[in-house]
Amino acid sequence: MISNKEKFLKYKPKKFLGQNFLVDDNIAKKIIRACDIKKNDSLIEIGPGHGALTKHLVKLTKNYLAVEIDHTIIEKLRLQFDNKLKIIHQDFLKLDFDSELNDIFNIKNKLKIIGNVPYNITTEILFKLFELKDKIEFAVMMIQKEVAQRITAKPNTKAYGILAIQTQLNTSPEILFNVPPTAFFPKPKVHSSVIKLEFGKEKYKLDDKTLFKKIVKESFGKRRKVMRNSLKNLFDDLNIVTNRIEFDFSRRPENVSIHEFVTLSNEISLLRKIQK
Ligand code: SAM
Repeated sequence: MISNKEKFLKYKPKKFLGQNFLVDDNIAKKIIRACDIKKNDSLIEIGPGHGALTKHLVKLTKNYLAVEIDHTIIEKLRLQFDNKLKIIHQDFLKLDFDSELNDIFNIKNKLKIIGNVPYNITTEILFKLFELKDKIEFAVMMIQKEVAQRITAKPNTKAYGILAIQTQLNTSPEILFNVPPTAFFPKPKVHSSVIKLEFGKEKYKLDDKTLFKKIVKESFGKRRKVMRNSLKNLFDDLNIVTNRIEFDFSRRPENVSIHEFVTLSNEISLLRKIQK
């Protein structure tokens, strides 16, 4: 019998596309169970690779679409699935959900997104999903363990930063389980985690998303500095802001909760409107 490893040795994985293929079927089944797929669900798989998850997913719903950037993999998958697999040759980051998906799916339900994603573009994928949050029910993704910890981090910890704030602002994230490097071929240098991001109701009401992004970015750009110093570049009238807004600007950003960042941003936005 040909082992998984021998099968993959025939194909040279492309490191620049983050190709570490899952070869442990028990882990694949555990991920699928976490997705709780129903037969009418609309499902998008990011980077199906050699089909470790795909072979299970296509049995669960007909509304399945794979998005893969590597055309050699696509040809192999088409053969493997007798040309019955819905797959597009596309960079997921450039996929236009409005125009391209409507031709493929009759989207009645919100989308479920699943993928063992390329670790080099995890953050970009996350930010794309946040932009599309109204169309998504949840995402289940295998990512680098250290990134999963940053995503779920709470204030007053080293891991808390922009990624935690943006993810928790847009979703409810949860680490489901960890996966060792031995579950992949080739073995990655890092450990992995499977996470679930629930895109439910908005938890925070932001008046000005752009302003909020800038405040968080400037604050964590110099995370050891107190916010009075970090925000100098953002506001040339910082004295007016600090005098008129009830917030202790001598705090460091890692000790400020998401709720407090949202309140700060909304109050500055209101102050700007009054000043105009
Ligand atoms: N899902 C497979 C598995 O579990 O074994 C493959 C996982 S591998 C970590 C990542 C996959 O994403 C590869 O097949 C790679 O070619 C594909 N990929 C990389 N960048 C991509 C992008 N921008 N858009 C779509 N697919 C991408």
